[in-house]
Amino acid sequence: MTNLQSLRQQAARRQSLRCYYCECPMWERDATTLSASFGLSKAQANLLRCTAEHLRPKSEGGPANRTNIVAACLFCNRTRHKAKNPRCPESYKKYVRKRMQRGRWLTGLFVFRTLE
Ligand SMILES: [Zn+2]
Repeated sequence: MTNLQSLRQQAARRQSLRCYYCECPMWERDATTLSASFGLSKAQANLLRCTAEHLRPKSEGGPANRTNIVAACLFCNRTRHKAKNPRCPESYKKYVRKRMQRGRWLTGLFVFRTLE
């Protein structure tokens, strides 16, 4: 296991396997249980894969250590770093929450509604 994998696992445990940004449940090794619980397709479940998220991006010299690595779902992670100037974690979290309230995040999954 690489250092990053181990940091991701520790972060996932600290966060009870919920995404740092959207707080959706994630999966680490096997999506079967999550898919079955929420009736997700394979493609949908894939977006909720647990990934290691650098709060300060790697491209900006963000280190792989306990304070900089959190666990985020693939969708939130990818979407944040796709932006030309990625938002800071706090602002991105607010952005994600706002989109979710409008049903415009992880569209079609609505996992968060099921959980309420
Ligand atoms: Zn997420």
